[in-house]
Amino acid sequence: MNRPAATELDAVAGRVAAVRQRIAAAAERAGRDPDRVTLVAVAKLQPPEAARAAVAAGVPDLGENYAQELAAKAAEVQGARWHFIGRLQRNKARQLVELGALVHSLDSLAGARALGARAVEAGTVAGALIQVELERRAAAHGVPAAELEEFVAACRQVEGLRLHGLMLMPPPADSAELTRPLFRRLAELARPFGGDLKELSMGMTADYEVAVEEGATMVRVGTAIFGPRPVKKRTGTGAGAA
Ligand SMILES: *Cc1c(COP(=O)(O)O)cnc(C)c1O
Repeated sequence: MNRPAATELDAVAGRVAAVRQRIAAAAERAGRDPDRVTLVAVAKLQPPEAARAAVAAGVPDLGENYAQELAAKAAEVQGARWHFIGRLQRNKARQLVELGALVHSLDSLAGARALGARAVEAGTVAGALIQVELERRAAAHGVPAAELEEFVAACRQVEGLRLHGLMLMPPPADSAELTRPLFRRLAELARPFGGDLKELSMGMTADYEVAVEEGATMVRVGTAIFGPRPVKKRTGTGAGAA
């Protein structure tokens, strides 16, 4: 991974302050308590130094998309709470449970059972949010809204697993306002489940303020805190680079 310059790390604290201010303003516009919004700093592809800078700036909640990267960083970053926001693979469940990661991206019963089983083995409880798919699209992941009730009921039967709420990864949009109806819909979907599914993980750099206005309790912000992500190194794909 590229080593960030010291000035880049200094910039993290300033960016965190700016994001917190925007969250507070959005919460105020919606008549919400800003303390009910957890800022999750998405550190994927960023080096441990950057993650440490976020913790030092008062953001202990760190998000990662790859279990291996999460585990590697957990060994180097003290005082963090880990959030797993990537594709959940069953063979990574043990790692995630042992690190106490809150999984935002639960979207299969097999995944739920893997988390529950590993948690029971470890004598703990795995926490998860259900990723919901509101619009059918080719590359989408998540539980279709129409199947949510059934999926929640099935997950509640899984020993060792506790549901915390719902998560949304909307399709890319030209403006945050275009995404607002989807945020609103996620909040509506959670409502019938009551206090059980009270966490709403929605909103990223492009649209977290709108998400907070619509009830987000967790926003997943990467670029606005760390700056642009280093390009992920791939092997065997020499062609096509810009
Ligand atoms: C990368 C990522 C984010 C953060 O994206 P930014 O636009 O950099 O804020 C949030 N959520 C998920 C699921 C991601 O993969």
